[in-house]
Amino acid sequence: QLFGDERKNSHGFNIEIEAESASFDAMIQPFMSTTWQAGPIINGEVISTDVTQQHITAPYNHDQTVGQINWASASHVDEALSYAAAAYPSWRDTPVEVRATALERLADLLEINYGELMALCHREAGKTLQDSIDEIREAVDFCRYYAVQARLAMTDAISMPAFDNTTTTIERQGRGIFVCISPWNFPLAIFLGQISAALAAGNTVIAKPAEQTSIIAFRAIQLMLEAGIPAGAIQLLPGDGAILGAALTSDKRVAGVAFTGSTGTAQRINRSLANRDAEPVPFIAETGGQNAMIIDSTCLPEQVVRDVVRSAFASAGQRCSALRVLFVQQDVADRIIPMLRGAMQEQAVGNPELHQTDVGPVINKTAQSGLLKHIERMQESATFIAQSPLPSDADKGTFVAPTAFEISGIDLLTEEQFGPILHVVRYKSRELDKVIDSINASGFGLTLGVHTRNETTARHITARVRAGNIYINRDQVGAVVGVQPFGGQGLSGTGPKAGGPHYLKRFTREIQSTQTQ
Ligand code: GLU
Repeated sequence: QLFGDERKNSHGFNIEIEAESASFDAMIQPFMSTTWQAGPIINGEVISTDVTQQHITAPYNHDQTVGQINWASASHVDEALSYAAAAYPSWRDTPVEVRATALERLADLLEINYGELMALCHREAGKTLQDSIDEIREAVDFCRYYAVQARLAMTDAISMPAFDNTTTTIERQGRGIFVCISPWNFPLAIFLGQISAALAAGNTVIAKPAEQTSIIAFRAIQLMLEAGIPAGAIQLLPGDGAILGAALTSDKRVAGVAFTGSTGTAQRINRSLANRDAEPVPFIAETGGQNAMIIDSTCLPEQVVRDVVRSAFASAGQRCSALRVLFVQQDVADRIIPMLRGAMQEQAVGNPELHQTDVGPVINKTAQSGLLKHIERMQESATFIAQSPLPSDADKGTFVAPTAFEISGIDLLTEEQFGPILHVVRYKSRELDKVIDSINASGFGLTLGVHTRNETTARHITARVRAGNIYINRDQVGAVVGVQPFGGQGLSGTGPKAGGPHYLKRFTREIQSTQTQ
């Protein structure tokens, strides 16, 4: 019932089925040589004055141009805020059914434009085939899910029980202008997830996409306008996060911020909002993790290895949910580690356009060099386990070979490494509580994996580890909208969980009145 009766998750494509995969390739092909021209969209107009132009190349082949994007400057912030403020009252008062239907039209348009969006997932974000399909599917799901949630939460006023001759009703409405700041690792799904919740709830939105993936964001906003979202209700400001983010989050007109990205940036935004001489506003942050998986001696090794490889290395480890520290009970370590080594040697790293590729590039040179430095440090201080082979033309792009090391504890890791690097820690069965304490001591609380056939152990661990999303006897990435609401605790975020029944409500205010009969 969470999705409502009428909507289901998006189907996507099954590339294992030859007929589906052939039609799918034909859809993408025309866009594999396109170069896009993108820029800020203010009140429905694409802006080309007073901008700096950025040249975007594919992360797996820097000779391949993807397009040019004009970056907004600080002067566009005020303009965008003025349009968003002017459009707010009429969008707030637009019937929820109209807002929800526009988002469902957007979902349909995303599916109609699958080929172009797939090509952008590959070429701008470096996503593999499966990750690109999942990306679009999740974006579609978010639009449809929040449309349904808005209808459920906002259509009727709630009447409270009366104890005298008065009646009290509560209803929800949009709060004003929401700033949505989104990451490059889910450039369509998280980008549209934040925006569609904010819009469905009756807010107007200023969207600040990640610098690295602004072209796909630009196309998504164009589709949004085509779907019937009014030009004043959605403003797109691509550009330098430090400049635009600071200008937006310090402005008194902003009624809320939704952010997904690093914990450090979330803390800066929080300070900026708090320093305004203005009303306190909601801040929804989904941030990093130091995600662990605990496996005990009752686990099924083949299943563990498959789930570890997916959790740690799928999407080149560039998910905030990804596994970073695997705790293996001593009794099975010497069985699991060689199997993991074998699986890593079989992983195909390379061009994400190719069907056989398991792991694509990391997003850019800055990310690559940070990860390579960590690998270098680990090579000096930790025990090397394995590294997947890189393709011969890896130097054309920004690749990092999936790598695993054995270390003595999670406390050695002071930062989240946002890439395909796995740390393995052995523990003795009597040390389980120490393992749990060490995970909690990291301060993060995003995902946790557990592999055990012992239900008491599973209950013991899940009751004690602080984590937003706990997965038992499976991998720990790829939360599905409306099925596994996603979001963490502690340093990992504020909640409410994205794709869950409470998310949209955080974008609303409550209006209540009590009337004498
Ligand atoms: N929802 C994604 C998952 O479950 C992760 C989101 C993120 O990386 O920000 O894998």
